[in-house]
Amino acid sequence: MSVTVRFAPSPTGAIHIGNARTALFNWLFARKNRGKFILRFDDTDTQRSRQEYADRIQEDLHWLGIDPDVTVHQSARFETYDAAVERLKEAGLLYPCYETADELERRRKIRLSRRLPPVYGREALKLGDEERAKFETEGRRPHWRFLLPNFSSDPFQPERTEIHWDDVVRGPQTVDLASISDPVLVREDGTYLYTLPSVVDDIEMGVTHVIRGDDHVTNTGAQIAIFRALGAKEPAFGHHNLLTTISGEGLSKRSGALSLGILREAGIEPMAVASLAVLLGTSESVSAARSMEELAELFDPASASKSSAKFDPAELKTLNRALLHAMSFEEARDRLANLGISGSSAEPFWLAVRGNLETFAEAGDWWKIVRKGPQKQPELSEEDVAFVRSAFDLLPPEPWDASTWKTWTGTVKDATGRKGRALFMPLRLALTGRDSGPELADLLPLLGREGVLARRP
Ligand code: GLU
Repeated sequence: MSVTVRFAPSPTGAIHIGNARTALFNWLFARKNRGKFILRFDDTDTQRSRQEYADRIQEDLHWLGIDPDVTVHQSARFETYDAAVERLKEAGLLYPCYETADELERRRKIRLSRRLPPVYGREALKLGDEERAKFETEGRRPHWRFLLPNFSSDPFQPERTEIHWDDVVRGPQTVDLASISDPVLVREDGTYLYTLPSVVDDIEMGVTHVIRGDDHVTNTGAQIAIFRALGAKEPAFGHHNLLTTISGEGLSKRSGALSLGILREAGIEPMAVASLAVLLGTSESVSAARSMEELAELFDPASASKSSAKFDPAELKTLNRALLHAMSFEEARDRLANLGISGSSAEPFWLAVRGNLETFAEAGDWWKIVRKGPQKQPELSEEDVAFVRSAFDLLPPEPWDASTWKTWTGTVKDATGRKGRALFMPLRLALTGRDSGPELADLLPLLGREGVLARRP
């Protein structure tokens, strides 16, 4: 069977690492199965959806390494959903309801006080034509509910009706249709909730696997019933655990916190984000995968745990460092060139500095230091200035290589009696303007004798 998955964000804000988890679960699942990945904007809420958010989401996905095979907007497909609504109405499976939110809430409380499940009691199904006409003349507009198949002949006598599926992530799942309310599919103003368009599209687009957050598990019970009502066989489902903040709150799209854009601007590598987004909350230990192929190897949807997982931004930094420290020159070459770092010293430079980088952009700072000298005047005591001057007088002749530092400082030690930190720190400060950084043995050949002498205090 060929696999087709979809990622269905609503373009109402920037996506965050939790959304990235859903997108990547789908993307990696498709890659492992040579399947197709659809990006489907869930934008039937035309009030809140924005094209600029859709564009941002697409850019963020591309940055992450996800390039959809197909992109669709649900807002362009209303006719198709209208047709499905007609079919359901004709089948008597979609019925108009006139309750206000307050009325529903009052009834819910009454049911709870009677120890009945707080589900909708289908009161609107009892309305006759006259009563409906009366509501309409009062100016009330109906919202439409789908009649769940949870009864044998009398809809007012719901019975336990189990829907089962073998979840790709969670294993065997059961939802009792008597425990949920008939879902509203169309609002008073005629707009669609996400439930029906999603099913209609999954059918039309041949989606074979719906992989999404476990906040949709109950929905799935109702949606499977809708698939069947529309004469289709439901796809397979997978519900992954959600990520939360360190303090356990859900990640919210609207808050903008931890959006992919912010992580990107902070210099976090896409594979650091992808690795954490996928491996967190699974039985696989979190490590930095260097490519999507490598991550696909580590990815197993069934290894996700059933409870939510806490996302700690500090972990991203750790993964980021690991990626940079292990990045080969070949991988870095084009990006270095974009920072103006090229030529024969680009490779030794990269190998010298990568182990000290928090972000790739910092390579640009080190390049300036190597090429132009300290970016900030080193603070050296008078005594240290004298020491550095005498050390510079002892510089060996070129050619220089990785052993030059050892030879030179050996000579300096013998001549001045300084050793350890007292010897190398003033030299490091004079050469780089910083008190930490790449190995001086590696930097020295990059600076060259002339470069070192130009730093004479
Ligand atoms: N827009 C929905 C969400 O983000 C999509 C759910 C689904 O994938 O079916 O929760």
